[in-house]
Amino acid sequence: MPDRHDPDFTELWPHSRTSAALGRRLVFATLLFCLFFTLATVAVRTWFAWNNNVKAMNAELHLIDQVFQGTLAKAVWEMDRDALKEQLDSVASAAPVGQVTLRIVRPGRDPEILERRRSTEPDPDPASAPSLHRDLAVTPYPDAREQVGDLTIVGDPRLLWQRLWKEVAVIIITQVIQSLALAGLIMAMFNRTVTVHVRHVARHLSQLTPATLGRRLRLRRQRRNDDELDLLQAGVNLVQEKLATYLQRQHEDELALAASRDQLAELVEQRTAELRAANVRLEALSRFDPLTGLANRRHFDELKAVEFNRALRHGHPLSVLMCDIDHFKAYNDSHGHAMGDQCLSNVAIVMSSVFSRSGELVARLGGEEFAILLPGFDLLQAHQAAEQLQAALAGAQLAHGASPVSPYMTISIGVAELDRATMDRFDQLLQRADQALYRAKSQGRARSVS
Ligand code: GH3
Ligand code: MG
Ligand code: MG
Repeated sequence: MPDRHDPDFTELWPHSRTSAALGRRLVFATLLFCLFFTLATVAVRTWFAWNNNVKAMNAELHLIDQVFQGTLAKAVWEMDRDALKEQLDSVASAAPVGQVTLRIVRPGRDPEILERRRSTEPDPDPASAPSLHRDLAVTPYPDAREQVGDLTIVGDPRLLWQRLWKEVAVIIITQVIQSLALAGLIMAMFNRTVTVHVRHVARHLSQLTPATLGRRLRLRRQRRNDDELDLLQAGVNLVQEKLATYLQRQHEDELALAASRDQLAELVEQRTAELRAANVRLEALSRFDPLTGLANRRHFDELKAVEFNRALRHGHPLSVLMCDIDHFKAYNDSHGHAMGDQCLSNVAIVMSSVFSRSGELVARLGGEEFAILLPGFDLLQAHQAAEQLQAALAGAQLAHGASPVSPYMTISIGVAELDRATMDRFDQLLQRADQALYRAKSQGRARSVS
């Protein structure tokens, strides 16, 4: 039996103590049905009992009639008053007789009526009792029949009702006992075969947790019946199995999801790092010339503005060298474009080695043109720096097989210094350096012009 104090069980069935259980409700229904059934049965059986009693009384009256009719007729014929009285009293004293009426007929005289009643009180329902009417005749000599009167015997209705009440009492008592026994039997059977198991199922289900899903429901029955309870047991076990499989799969999916989430996070982190590195590279690429490794024009444009403003703010000198390789087209033509690239790279190395101090910036503006930004250099210092570069390049002795000015690679340099009076934009300074470069070219190349 389930423990009703079990918290799970009480939660599942909170009113189990007070509410009517299934079995009790079934018993009430059975009792109600038995009550109606008893009433109907009592009515029918009473009706049969009444008819039987009437028949029995009728038979008794006939028996009495047979016993007394001859003697009564003889007493009337012989005018034996004492015998007549005695006979009539005997008939009236017989148990089933309620009333006896004897009518004596004599020719030329009014009929005489003699009557005996069992009770002086009026009968409860005189019409309900059976009655018997008989002509009394004598045969004084053969073939001569003479009627001397008639006899009416009426049954005793009180006796009839008395007998009926006794039988009805027995009927009611047996029916009630039968109904109560039936209800008790149904309750006991229902409790034994259904209620106990239903409670067991309810308790089993209330105690289920994901961890105990493997515990199968087993009804405590002696044998398999393949009935609804067995179906219920099989159904509960099937649901548990499916639920357990589902939960197991869900758990595995969760683990797999967590693993792939971690993997994804790792991947994202890795990709982010790669992206960051690529960004750094891209940033560098966007500011430096890939061939020579020098600052490109974009970087130069950024820094030139900064240096120009700083020079204006602090009143420091600022100079620029514009450099162009001499007869580079001819170099390409005679040495090949690849060698031309190599040459550009070598010139860049020489330039970087000469201008390596902080603030000095060497940039490749495009093709074989370079610009060198020299903050803090006045024109004279810038010119000296240009000469220094010329010397370094000459010292590098980069062969040029097609130059009309030298067997080695030479450059022309235009030098210009910022003039605050006439320049309010850096491009004006650059333009001035460009003009100087043009002059260096036209004066024969391989020189620096301020
Ligand atoms: P000049 O002395 O008057 O400066 O003559 P130049 O031949 O150097 O000048 P020009 O402007 O006629 O020719 C420049 C050449 O530089 C043309 C082009 O083939 C070459 N050049 C420009 N950029 C590159 C480069 O990246 N690599 C190589 N190999 N050659 C380049
Ligand atoms: Mg050029
Ligand atoms: Mg050139």
